Amino acid sequence: MQAMVLEAAGLPLRLTELPIPEPSSWQVRLRVLACGVCRTDLHIVDGELTEPKLPLVPGHEIVGRVEAIGAAVEGFAIGDRVGVPWLGATDGTCPYCRNGEENLCDNARFTGYQIDGGYASHTVADARYCFHLPDHYGDAEAAPLLCAGLIGYRSLKMAGDAARLGIYGFGAAAHIVAQVARHQGREVFAFTRPGDIRAQDFALELGAAWAGGSDEAPPKQLDAAIIFAPVGALVPAALRASRKGGVVVCGGIHMSDIPSFPYEILWEERVLRSVANLTRADASEFLALAQTAGVKTSVVEMPLAAANEALGRLRHGDLTGAAVLIP
Ligand SMILES: [Zn+2]
Ligand SMILES: [Zn+2]
Repeated sequence: MQAMVLEAAGLPLRLTELPIPEPSSWQVRLRVLACGVCRTDLHIVDGELTEPKLPLVPGHEIVGRVEAIGAAVEGFAIGDRVGVPWLGATDGTCPYCRNGEENLCDNARFTGYQIDGGYASHTVADARYCFHLPDHYGDAEAAPLLCAGLIGYRSLKMAGDAARLGIYGFGAAAHIVAQVARHQGREVFAFTRPGDIRAQDFALELGAAWAGGSDEAPPKQLDAAIIFAPVGALVPAALRASRKGGVVVCGGIHMSDIPSFPYEILWEERVLRSVANLTRADASEFLALAQTAGVKTSVVEMPLAAANEALGRLRHGDLTGAAVLIP
């Protein structure tokens, strides 16, 4: 099989020929149909996330077709199209798992980080963490639902019932969350890199009430804001844009340092929180909602061997929507 392999942080991925893996008893083997490129992949490749297995096949937005199946697998058959998300394994026994917070599991393992992922022609995945995908999404269109969509949805839940929602960083996650938020009747205020007119136009096309640079104040105070851009300086900016009692959610796995800020912008019961990973319940809820809400994903398809180019374009903000690798 072909895979794009990370040998050490900071190096470009290398196209490598590997043996096709055999599924263990809980696993399915998939022929990969499409794999989304997530900002988390960039943090792994750049060494900002420091605990990858090495060598590693990145990729945790995998759409694949089942072609072999372990003895203990239930609910999937050969030929099924399945999605594989970031959450790849949990222990099921730690206090978090027992409390319905498997996203915080003490012994969680993640796809494309501690488990080889989908930047490849084939992969294996624990079927207990895989999902059937809504039929009407094409393979590439379904891929961004599996992380950008899922984590975006979890971030939106953490924003509560906010009617005026700010979104900082208008990439793959934001373009999905904006559609769900509009479907729920919320007003969306989109913040992009200053001067990024293309991203601002994209946000307006998706129904945002306002789009501007992250250095601008929105025309109305926000009830909540979600920050997807990995930029710590946006935290005080989002707090300043939020009303009393407003919520600021950091939706990314990594962020540059947050500059110090005066207590008065947190005061009056504003809440600052992060979102980590996903639960399988989030995935079931979101995949059903995506269909009801008519969420459409905007994807840029690229060949598997162009993974480095895809990561480079993501780094430079040179994508409208989500890059998806096709083996
Ligand atoms: Zn656990
Ligand atoms: Zn991701």
